[in-house]
Order: sequence, then C-alpha cells, then structure tokens
Amino acid sequence: MLDQFLQAAEALGARASALITEAATAADLESARNRLLGRKNGELVALMKDLPRLSPDERKTAGAAVNRIKSAIEESLLSKTASLAVESEGTSRTDLTMPSRQRWKGGRHPVTVVIEEIQDIFREIGFTVALGPEAETEWYNFGALNFPSDHPAMDMHDTLYLTDDVLLRTHTSPVQVRTLEQHAPPIRILAPGNVYRRDFFDASHAPMFAQIEGFSVDEGISFVDLKATLTHFANRFFGKTRTRFRPSFFPFTEPSAEMDVECQICHGSGCASCKQTGWMEILGSGMVHPNVLRAAGVDSERYTGWAFGMGPARIAMLRYAIPDIRLLYDSDMRFLSQLAE
Ligand SMILES: [Zn+2]
Repeated sequence: MLDQFLQAAEALGARASALITEAATAADLESARNRLLGRKNGELVALMKDLPRLSPDERKTAGAAVNRIKSAIEESLLSKTASLAVESEGTSRTDLTMPSRQRWKGGRHPVTVVIEEIQDIFREIGFTVALGPEAETEWYNFGALNFPSDHPAMDMHDTLYLTDDVLLRTHTSPVQVRTLEQHAPPIRILAPGNVYRRDFFDASHAPMFAQIEGFSVDEGISFVDLKATLTHFANRFFGKTRTRFRPSFFPFTEPSAEMDVECQICHGSGCASCKQTGWMEILGSGMVHPNVLRAAGVDSERYTGWAFGMGPARIAMLRYAIPDIRLLYDSDMRFLSQLAE
C-alpha cells in the first residue's frame, strides 16, 4: 500500500517538473499551478486523499514524501516565475533594483553663505553692493581715510606692498572713498571683498580674509541711525539678541564703537568661547570722519555718515561654532561639505 503511494507521489513530482519547465508564459505557469496545487481538484490534493488508507506508521513516511514534493513544486514555480519575468523585460537585462550612483553636488562656502545673508538683510533696508580693487593705492587705503603718515599700519611689517605706493588693501574701507567720489549722497552701500594683512596663519588670523563694509551718507545722519541699523541687523541675523556698543578708535571714524552681541553659545552667562564676558565682538563702526568726507570731495558741513566693517569668517565661526579659522581656508571637503549650503 505504502509503496504504491510513494510511486504515485514520485510520478506526480516528475509530472510537475515537466509541466513547469514547459510553461512558456505566465498564463501557462498559472494553469500548471492550479493543476498541481489547486485546493479542490489539484493533483496533490487527490494524492492526499489516499493517506487515510495507510497505517499510522506508513502515514508518517507518506506525509513526509507529500511535503517534500509540495515544497519542490513551489520552489520550481517561484524560480520559473522569476525567469519568465526576466525574459519579458527583453534582452537588456537591466537590473532595476541596483542602487543609483550618488551625484556629486557643489555647495556654497560657509563664508559666502554668511556674506550673502548679510547682503540680503541690508538690501531690505535700501543698501546696494559696491566693489573695489584689491590692489589699492596707499592714498585710498590710508591717506584718504585719515591715517596719519606715520601710522604703524602703513609699516611693511603689517601691510603687503606691491610697489612703493601700491599695496594689497588691508580693509574694504577704500570703497567708501571711491564710491563717494563717484556718487553724490544720499548713498547706502555694502562693500564685501577680500583684504590682506601681514598676519601669521594661526587659529584666529589669516593673511587673507573676507571683510564686509557698510556705510550710509546723507544729510542729518546721526549715531542713532548707526545704532538702530546695526541693532536691527543683529536681531535679523542672530535672532532676538542683546547688543552693546563700546567706545573704540579708528582713524576714519569719530566717534568709533565696537559692537558686541550676546554670546551665541552661553547667551550671556559666560563661557570659554566668550572668555566669561557673555559678549562677542562682531564689528567695528563709527561716524564717518569729516576728513574722509572731505578727501572724497563731499561737503562735510552738509553731510554726515556712519560706517561699519565686519569679518564674515568670524561671524561664520560664531554661528557654526568653528574653533579654528584655518578650517575655513583649508579646502578640506570632509569639513566644508558639512556646512555647505
Ligand atoms: Zn559665552
């Protein structure tokens, strides 16, 4: 009895294998599946109807044979389904499941991002951008900006001279004079650009760095305009923040002030980054010195103005908590790609 059953099972397995191999389309395969495994009239179900006629011991062996044949049939149905699918895709055999290659995408440098953001904020309140040469004459860089002729900044130790009176500009302030020579007030100008100093390349200095200058000249401009505009800027750039102005000195402004914002790391309570003061200096500013207006041919009795200069690299360091300025100039993609926008 058992032998008969096992022979029938074997024959079913062979038939199934031939049937599945011969299937040429998905429809052929589906009808083969129904014929073999169909719940009502399938050949496997028909075979199993003989199981109760066997003794319990024989049933164990027969049941195992049935299971073996069933999973063999299911397996060949699956692999045939896959091979029919590949054939129906044509000859290209494109593997649509392969992950795509990542595309390399450039980004803006963090200092550029900061400069553009500063420009956007000042553009909203009527400032336009002006540029000037990086190789500048001693007159525009120092003389017209009210530096006395023996000022230490004019020393070869501090400034990179190209010839006797041409140098790499040490600040963007010459753009003030150049703009005032060409345009009559009222003017509101923002002047971003690179400046050069004879500094060592260390954690907080670089021999070349970006600066952004801003100035406004008109009738009746006062220190109130300076404070209000720069406070507005600080609140727009850093979010609601406290600010303070400290008296300072620059040859080209009088009076002069350094502007501090609340430390962006400890928010005023004091930490290592702000040397426990709770404040961080972000820019130098002041009322344009009458001598500067006169050097540019502007009537200093009629017009007044204010100006500021700040270092976008330092602002980027503040914002992104970058401990060393050299990271911004090293062009190390592993670092820059974390901040690029
Ligand atoms: Zn702090």
